[in-house]
Amino acid sequence: MPELSRSVDTDLGVLPFIEARRQVEQHAALLGRPAAQESVPLLEARGRILAEEICADRDQPPFPRATRDGYAVRSSDLLRVPVQLRIVAEIRAGASPESTALTLRAGEAAEIMTGAPAPAGADAVVMVEYTRRNGASVEIERSIAPGENIVPAGAEARRGDLLLSPGARMTPAAIALAASVGKSQILVFPRPRVAILATGDEVVDLALTPNANQIRNSNSYSLAAQVAGAGGIAVVLPIAPDEHASLRRLIAQGLEADLLLLTGGVSMGKYDLVEQVMRELGAEFIFTGALIQPGRPVVFGAVRTRARPAATYFFGLPGNPVSTMVTFELFARPMLDALAGARPGQIRFLKARLKSEVKVRTGLTRFLPALLTGEFSAAEVELLRWQGSGDIVTTARANCYLVVPPDRESISAGELVSVLAVASDD
Ligand code: AMP
Ligand code: MG
Repeated sequence: MPELSRSVDTDLGVLPFIEARRQVEQHAALLGRPAAQESVPLLEARGRILAEEICADRDQPPFPRATRDGYAVRSSDLLRVPVQLRIVAEIRAGASPESTALTLRAGEAAEIMTGAPAPAGADAVVMVEYTRRNGASVEIERSIAPGENIVPAGAEARRGDLLLSPGARMTPAAIALAASVGKSQILVFPRPRVAILATGDEVVDLALTPNANQIRNSNSYSLAAQVAGAGGIAVVLPIAPDEHASLRRLIAQGLEADLLLLTGGVSMGKYDLVEQVMRELGAEFIFTGALIQPGRPVVFGAVRTRARPAATYFFGLPGNPVSTMVTFELFARPMLDALAGARPGQIRFLKARLKSEVKVRTGLTRFLPALLTGEFSAAEVELLRWQGSGDIVTTARANCYLVVPPDRESISAGELVSVLAVASDD
């Protein structure tokens, strides 16, 4: 775990969205790589963060690879077409190296299949569609540029080249790359453990039947799902009441994880005790709010305990269920990525056309549940009518958040707007 850097400001108060996000990114960037590593079978590596270098064990492709079915030729034979070439070989993908050890001479062609090695002397492959077979020779009706339909040996990577470095996320393409160099087992960083602590006297566990004034704990579940989707291990703690001693005990427990996510108790209410308890535990606050909606009261800080002199970062996420989910996406995710050993990612918004006018008050960057529709190049987005940041019924029907910049009080239908896609795990 990292030292909380003194070079980064603390207690910045309430920040505009972009500045708050930058703060998280700066802290995330200061985290060192995790010390531990573990070896996992390649098939289990999906989404994990690579801890080793993966290099090419041979040239890629290892031979000049035909990318079409047709005839390997010397392009200089095709300067004047049509032309008849003598077929001297048939080369299939996977043919033995002995059987392909030939050199194509002037006037000769080799029948060749996609994925097969082009023979020495050949510098292009004519697609079968442009040829006519006449027994032992082939008539070719088009000329061809040198290099066409052949990927030279080593064009993608040379033997020994670095293909993936530590910190890379094992996407399906990265997994394909590891497989292509024969890595059936790879070293990854351990998944970070993320403690989740829901607070609130009204919040009850799913095992209980809530009374008329209680609500079920949904935040621990949405967060656990988000944490798992982001590659962490969720450690869900019991619900903390709005009572000092129990809250403090559970927070102390949560600080033993790599990251602590609290929900609730960060607003201005009389029983919103999270900040107070955190201060008593020696927390340094980096920001205590962001000019966003939902999620304005979000808190970001770090605590060093005697048992753990390295800083443990925490987020106090507002308790309203949509605020909790949005602030996780906006702020907790980059921290989790960094704790997992990944290079901290940028936040990227998609662009879509607004379907109908949006009016809001200025001052806050808004992330409003919305529906993105339209295929191919016709992405359109529409706000869903919702009951505010407690409305998970509407949010569960949404597939994105429409981003409204803080200086816009109305956006007209047809304008291009930013959209934050809801991360899906698969
Ligand atoms: P708070 O941030 O504690 O002021 O809570 C804001 C709103 O979110 C209140 O209506 C709470 O009842 C609700 N809330 C807080 N925690 C949870 C939770 N774990 N699950 C569902 N709703 C919650
Ligand atoms: Mg509360």
